[in-house]
Amino acid sequence: MATVALKTVRKVYAGGMEAVKGIDLTVPDGALCVLVGPSGCGKSTLLRMIAGLEEISSGTIEIDGRVVNALEPAERDIAMVFQNYALYPHMSVYDNMAYGLRNRGTPKPEIERKVREAARMLELGSLLDRRPRQLSGGQRQRVAMGRAIVRDPKVFLFDEPLSNLDAKLRGQMRVEIRKLQRDLGVTSIYVTHDQLEAMTLADVLVVMNSGRIEQVGAPLDVYEEP
Ligand code: ADP
Ligand code: ADP
Repeated sequence: MATVALKTVRKVYAGGMEAVKGIDLTVPDGALCVLVGPSGCGKSTLLRMIAGLEEISSGTIEIDGRVVNALEPAERDIAMVFQNYALYPHMSVYDNMAYGLRNRGTPKPEIERKVREAARMLELGSLLDRRPRQLSGGQRQRVAMGRAIVRDPKVFLFDEPLSNLDAKLRGQMRVEIRKLQRDLGVTSIYVTHDQLEAMTLADVLVVMNSGRIEQVGAPLDVYEEP
């Protein structure tokens, strides 16, 4: 578990577009923080800066008390779950989940234990030999989550992970993500433009607009304000 602290974080893209205008935010240990707001308000930019996929123009980002501004994504102890799953099509479900651990040189028995444990949690146990194209959308999203879980990260980052799923499955997966996040207790930051998704998932709800935080609080407090 880890606290994530953003201190006056800004992003100015080449060309002068100020996408994130000095954001201060602390996400406590184990909390699920949802960033919600209209398209173009800077959610993905902020998430990508935390992931290390986008350079920060100014400010600092701390994970577990350590400034990570200059660290590569692999050194940040994070795992990201993307909207498009980003699975390797030619690899089995097992190999997709094991890939990052193999690259790190994790011993084989440990890889196997972690992959099987994640597969059990995600009900993928009987699908480990399949290729991504032989899976449903929901199953693919579970594999993407499995790949994040086996990394044992301090922080999960979710970039609109459910937006490619139909409405019914989206509701189901929302419940699963909520439960999984609680069970694992991993600090999480979750980006969506869907208010219902934000309301049902968030411990801490952050409403963004034009690169700034408009409101922050528990979901009911945020939406009950006059
Ligand atoms: P959101 O995730 O809330 O939809 P983004 O973070 O994707 O918002 O985008 C915030 C703003 O930054 C938008 O105006 C977008 O057009 C702009 N933007 C995003 N990526 C780039 C980029 N690589 N170069 C220039 N402007 C960008
Ligand atoms: P490593 O164990 O060194 O991270 P990987 O092959 O898993 O090796 O990762 C290669 C790059 O892709 C690294 O920068 C890593 O952080 C990033 N990466 C891979 N999978 C994920 C993921 N699920 N979330 C975030 N970053 C990832």
